[in-house]
Amino acid sequence: MKNIALHWKILIGMALGVLFGWIASTFGWQEFVSDFIKPFGTIFINLLKLIAVPLIIVSLIKGVSDLKDISKLSKMGGQTIGIYLFTTLFAVIIGLLAVNIIGPGKSISDETRKGLLSEFESKAQGKIDIALQQKDEGPLQALIDLVPSNIFSAVTDNGNMLQVIFFVIFFGIGLILIAPEKAEPVKKFFDGLNEVILKMIDLVMLAAPIGVFALMADLIVQAPSSELISALLKYSMTVLLGLSIMIFGLYPLMIKLFTGKSYRFFFNGIAPAQLLAFSTSSSAATLPVTMERVTEHLGVDEEVSSFVLPIGATVNMDGTSLYQAVAAVFIAQAFDIDLTLMDQLTIVATATLASIGSAAVPSAGMVMLVIVLSAIGVPEAGLSLIFAVDRPLDMCRTTVNVTGDATVSMLVAANVGKLHNPKEKKWDDFKK
Ligand code: ASP
Repeated sequence: MKNIALHWKILIGMALGVLFGWIASTFGWQEFVSDFIKPFGTIFINLLKLIAVPLIIVSLIKGVSDLKDISKLSKMGGQTIGIYLFTTLFAVIIGLLAVNIIGPGKSISDETRKGLLSEFESKAQGKIDIALQQKDEGPLQALIDLVPSNIFSAVTDNGNMLQVIFFVIFFGIGLILIAPEKAEPVKKFFDGLNEVILKMIDLVMLAAPIGVFALMADLIVQAPSSELISALLKYSMTVLLGLSIMIFGLYPLMIKLFTGKSYRFFFNGIAPAQLLAFSTSSSAATLPVTMERVTEHLGVDEEVSSFVLPIGATVNMDGTSLYQAVAAVFIAQAFDIDLTLMDQLTIVATATLASIGSAAVPSAGMVMLVIVLSAIGVPEAGLSLIFAVDRPLDMCRTTVNVTGDATVSMLVAANVGKLHNPKEKKWDDFKK
């Protein structure tokens, strides 16, 4: 077992988890799974989340201060945002094309629609309430939210990542601007702290196969066995087709064109982060591992990864934007609402913004979908139509979100001359 690569161990953990979940469902051990298996999955996710905020603070301070001058920072920032926006728009357009061509909502019968609406009505209402609360805020609320009034309260909430990033970049800029001899001890302190946190990630990842085993077993036990799910198969296939185009088409193409690296190299490096994104459905929880893989295995300099990835995890969600476009049109089709070209363009704009606004946590994309639906006048209750299959699709779109962030970090690194040959593998070192 010792020499098996980490992503294989995680895959084995996942497969065993699915198998165990299936056996548990068959024999009615649901309670056992939720009492004695699920907690290990929760502990694993908590450990990852625990590291996320300190990691962002430490590595971003190190990253920004290593840049040495502000013009480098703004150049990298401009590139990062530009490429993120491009991939998100591309994803929405792919989603729209797929859902309009395939038309998965057109074949839904009245009976199925009523069945889905009534079965998931109450669960969907919860999401709609959260989204409406956000919608009532003014147009510049997002900008206001970016600037924390108290850094300590910002760091106590994992949902405030952008506020933390804002503070840290601000701090880093201050550090660049002061006299080098004064900045040196501060930098050295954060350098050391950075090493400690990376080591903590290594340690947490040793438990990854067990963590994903528990997460998958619990997921399978909870899966709705409704036959209505088959009605949603076509919709799910449409989302998956779009996501596959991103993972197997756009990203490898961008990597090949702009960095010259093969997808095999990329996949081998990033696979553990992808598998973790898949099993946790959270880009934020996956962030520590994404950072580690991209830096240690894909050769992206920490200066770049520590800047590009935390921002990406919070704002760049290609999988989510694609899913939101497909879901919005699917629901409109199911309700027999014709969408004009203007409506479709509205989806491009709102899905882009809604994905940027989605938190990097499970089912956040579904909450923000309400905003897309209301912009094109489709009943929000339509959320109930897609509720049953949201979790598996969330797992897949999160994988795309994380892969997109990693891709962009390689591109930016190549652009600013900070893409190296990867260092020695950390986990392998650790095993020795
Ligand atoms: N779970 C996704 C993520 O963390 C967000 C979403 O719900 O689409 O990246």
